[in-house]
Amino acid sequence: MQNLWNDSEADKLVNAYGEKGVDRDLALRVYTTRLLGGEPRLVLHGGGNTSLKSKATDILGREWDVLCVKGSGWDMAVIEPQGLPAVKMEALLAARGLNSLSDEDMVAMQRSNLIDPGSPNPSIETLLHAFLPHKFVDHTHSTAVLALIDQENSEEVCRAVYGGRLGFVPYIKPGFDLAKAAAEIYERNPAVEGLILDKHGIFTFAEGAKEAYDLMIEFVTMAEEHVAKNGRNPFKPVVLPAKLATPEEIGPYLRGAIAIDEGEGRYGRMVSDFRTSEKILDYVNADTAEELALRGVSTPDLSIRIKTGPMVLPAPEAGKLDEYRKVIRERVAAFSARYKEYFETNNANDDVERTMLDPMPRLTLVRGLGLFGHGRSMKEAKIAADVGEMLVEAVTGAEAIGSFHPLALSDLFELEYWSLEQAKLAANKPKALSGQVLLVTGGAGAIGAATAKLFAAQGAHVVVADLNGDKAAAAAKETGNASIGVACDVTDPASVRAAFDRAVAVFGGVDIVVSNAGAAWEGRIGELSDETLRKSFELNFFAHQSVAQNAVRLFLKQGTGGVLLFNASKQAVNPGKNFGAYGLPKAATLFLSRQYALDYGAHGIRSSAVNADRIRSGLLTDEMIASRSAARGVSEKDYMGGNLLGLEVRAEDVAQAFLHQALAERTTADVTTVDGGNIAAALR
Ligand SMILES: [Zn+2]
Repeated sequence: MQNLWNDSEADKLVNAYGEKGVDRDLALRVYTTRLLGGEPRLVLHGGGNTSLKSKATDILGREWDVLCVKGSGWDMAVIEPQGLPAVKMEALLAARGLNSLSDEDMVAMQRSNLIDPGSPNPSIETLLHAFLPHKFVDHTHSTAVLALIDQENSEEVCRAVYGGRLGFVPYIKPGFDLAKAAAEIYERNPAVEGLILDKHGIFTFAEGAKEAYDLMIEFVTMAEEHVAKNGRNPFKPVVLPAKLATPEEIGPYLRGAIAIDEGEGRYGRMVSDFRTSEKILDYVNADTAEELALRGVSTPDLSIRIKTGPMVLPAPEAGKLDEYRKVIRERVAAFSARYKEYFETNNANDDVERTMLDPMPRLTLVRGLGLFGHGRSMKEAKIAADVGEMLVEAVTGAEAIGSFHPLALSDLFELEYWSLEQAKLAANKPKALSGQVLLVTGGAGAIGAATAKLFAAQGAHVVVADLNGDKAAAAAKETGNASIGVACDVTDPASVRAAFDRAVAVFGGVDIVVSNAGAAWEGRIGELSDETLRKSFELNFFAHQSVAQNAVRLFLKQGTGGVLLFNASKQAVNPGKNFGAYGLPKAATLFLSRQYALDYGAHGIRSSAVNADRIRSGLLTDEMIASRSAARGVSEKDYMGGNLLGLEVRAEDVAQAFLHQALAERTTADVTTVDGGNIAAALR
């Protein structure tokens, strides 16, 4: 592994922080923590931690010896000094005299000894850092080291690779007991330069930041070299079908099968992140892949991301998707049954009260294709996929030099259901639309963009489809929440299909569609050219049908219902003079929304429309507002507020109506009016 220490970079950070009153040691602690955290082969999403023994002054001006240790919730790759809260050493060291200390008391003791009570919780490995005497202590879950220690004879392997340079600590769950055991092993031989924590990771320590970091890289490199030198190709590939289905073809089936059935037609949906590479393919195609998946995970804290390990699916043969859909359902049922059994068996071992987490996989290996990470948000799905890639590497390494033998599932259970680990996830409470994907057409326009933003704020990931790809990308960026923009001409069926394909490729599927794109043509109906009327029907009716068809195609694949929403406009119910070219197809679209509600209600697919009027947008521009209000001899404000409430109706109000329809679980074939009140246009 490359050593990334760079004197001038380190000095630069020391100087920059020096100006803010941060001392050299803490600045260097931040520097090497970032170096370690930026390398996924060392540290993944919340795993690993570092510390510094230093001094700090409290509000009363008293100086204390403190441990600055990584705070829970901070990512090492982007850590700041405040991500390393200072805890009084005196209290931490005093804890060593106790015979036992519960996790809850340990957290309380650490929190009550913070210099700044507003700090995040110090790492769950704080006491281990405190009990070692060195100024700088670094801890990672190195993938290469895991290949050595996920072995039945891990102690022997470590002795062969490291000689006496590293102490060997048998597996103990992180916390007080592990900290005490590690300190005792260190004290038996204070010449060691670090500690191996069996089935878990590695610690290095030194008086300088650079020295502790150098040791970490050196020991990790030794592990990598050992695997490279002694490893053999551990995998025999299975025979694959001649022609494989694509990840996009199976993605919606998989996504539907792993949605958490919450009853009453409600689902806790997840999004998926697909990855593939030569390394991943070697692994997923190995004849041992299914058996390896049952053994566990490479380091125990991965269990909070991918539970007990991946689900493995056979290779999907092209053209046989109906059969494959059944296979997916069977495998998901088997995975969740196994997970329930794992929970019940291990939960029965003590009288702690626990609630079972959902039993769905977070990592799926598909032979012939690659891996899918799943999560209630794109962030979680990507974390699961990152974890999957590192699991593949660690297990491949372990199998190359011996046999993958990770922590037993009973010990893993203790960690997965440990209150302190669950606390790491508690911050991510799902929102109303978490895990759902919205596709909105005309997404860069006023109503489309407002809808995208509002749905994203409720947790949805949004595919902003617009004729103008650049504007779609900009609107997606505005929307946040990992939303994407796609160029889409809704009057071209191939372009619509491509937009849905992109949604599947990026998120795994679609759950809600707001068919919003439209444009108006004016003219007295008797004199209107055929061409104009047909053009309007293409955009204001047939395009909605093409979007809805694609949506329903995906909804049926997923089997978890879905929501179809149409922008029908006031013209659909209350024609405006010379607006026939617009109103006629919109009336047909309103009918279309009801036809979909009727034909697909039995599949849990809901279909509704919004009847909005006089919204400042591409259809009603500022210039049009100026000329129309002048023509009527009223102010612009009175023109825009010419309704029962006397208020201008905004794009955000229309978005609110779409959101209401999406969330109202027993509402379909509905038309919601958003016009500030217009009795002539009221539905009857
Ligand atoms: Zn650890």
